[in-house]
Amino acid sequence: MSKLFDIIVIGGGPAGSTTATFLARKGYQVLLLEKEKFPREHVGESLLPFCYHVLKDLGVLSEMESRFSRKPGVTFGNSTGENNSHWCFRQEIKDDSYLSFHVRRAEFDDLLLKNSRKNGATVQEETTVLKVDLSSPEKAIVYAESPDGNALQYEARMVIDASGQQTFLARQLKTRRPFESLAPRAAYSTHWGNAELSPELKAGHIKIIYLGGAEKAGWIWMIPLAGGRLSVGLAINMEYANRQRRILSQEHDNWQEALYFQELESSPAVQEILANASTLGSVNINGDFSYYSEEKWGSNFAIVGDASAFLDPVFSSGIYLAIKGAQLVVEGIDQWLRDSHQEGIEKAYTDIAGAYKLVEKLINTYYDPSYIQWDALGGISTSSDFRQTESAFSLVHLVLAGDFFTNYDRYQQALEMFRDPNRLEQFKHLAHSNTAADLEPICTDFS
Ligand SMILES: Cc1cc2nc3c(=O)[nH]c(=O)nc-3n(C[C@H](O)[C@H](O)[C@H](O)COP(=O)(O)OP(=O)(O)OC[C@H]3O[C@@H](n4cnc5c(N)ncnc54)[C@H](O)[C@@H]3O)c2cc1C
Repeated sequence: MSKLFDIIVIGGGPAGSTTATFLARKGYQVLLLEKEKFPREHVGESLLPFCYHVLKDLGVLSEMESRFSRKPGVTFGNSTGENNSHWCFRQEIKDDSYLSFHVRRAEFDDLLLKNSRKNGATVQEETTVLKVDLSSPEKAIVYAESPDGNALQYEARMVIDASGQQTFLARQLKTRRPFESLAPRAAYSTHWGNAELSPELKAGHIKIIYLGGAEKAGWIWMIPLAGGRLSVGLAINMEYANRQRRILSQEHDNWQEALYFQELESSPAVQEILANASTLGSVNINGDFSYYSEEKWGSNFAIVGDASAFLDPVFSSGIYLAIKGAQLVVEGIDQWLRDSHQEGIEKAYTDIAGAYKLVEKLINTYYDPSYIQWDALGGISTSSDFRQTESAFSLVHLVLAGDFFTNYDRYQQALEMFRDPNRLEQFKHLAHSNTAADLEPICTDFS
């Protein structure tokens, strides 16, 4: 005999917990099934400023402020350390939301999941969804397994898949596809202690260091977390990693760990920061970047967050895409279930598709050597000619901050503008600044 709910959510990461909280608040009977016991570790620690308003709507902002380190901007650097461009969100965002967060994901995801419970959702951890029957358009039957191996069965008007990279429904429906414009990449990461932070890391910036080379197309992230931890990750082309496997496995038991250290050592900029540092855990591996589900919703299901699509994490876009997308989908589902109007959910998925298209284009600017070189573009400008480039300058800040969901067409056209070498040169010249000293008044002045 099935237990009956209005909505069943698969997965308790940021997308699932956001969906469950907002639906429960609207009075729906929500069941969230999560296969792990929280808190559990997860990659993806740097949040965009545009998350701020969703976190406020969720009611977790003050808790976030008391627990996590703050992020006023982003710095793009090159491997040698000669080029750095600093982007400070306060240049363009004039309210408190300019100051974003870096989070330990175990803590952040746990906070959001507890918040779902607090808002009325029924949350069952250590419960794995095994199969969903969508054959009747008016309902979904969910088959799951309890921690002690017992078979469970639930029924709801709709099921929302928020299973992350497991892509539960896309696999079941066979609708998972790669993003053709993006090469498959893998990531290797761990936390470090005792790092010698550069001024921008001290100020709280995420630092993205390009390793260069078409075959690698690699980059390193550095994220200053609370408690003196520095998260350091390497993202690299899968083809390059596979070639390295053949070489490194001749001498190393763990070729992936060897690859991680080899690439970190290849960058003088990274070495300066990690010279006296040591790792605080083993190296985690994440692969399979960049896919989407061709179908994202139907009469009895919807897919949110990484379960619906995942893009290369170079611009730290994943959590914002997941939680803002979930918030929009909840509004659409509510309209549909209450008034049988599909316009809301159609509009939600149109805006979500626009946001992903914009982020995909932005990612392509990072890897295309004939396009924008992010480390050589000046983020801070004190130039008196600044006003001439104000719109391009402000556009880049807003896109980096996460303004994906409303102006995606306009921003896509503007990014295309940078393909014109003359326009790009003009922008570089007028907005260029390369010194960490410039950071002082703009990026560090927060309490
Ligand atoms: C290398 C890397 C670096 C990243 N860096 C950043 C970053 O700096 N900033 C950023 O914003 N984003 C980053 N991301 C992306 C970010 O981690 C994701 O976008 C985000 O976690 C998406 O949340 P989600 O809720 O959709 O999925 P998840 O957080 O993965 O949650 C999915 C949940 O579903 C559960 N689940 C799966 N299958 C089942 C099942 N069958 N039954 C029950 N439960 C199930 C899982 O246990 C999990 O808890 C990064 C990603 C990668 C790979």
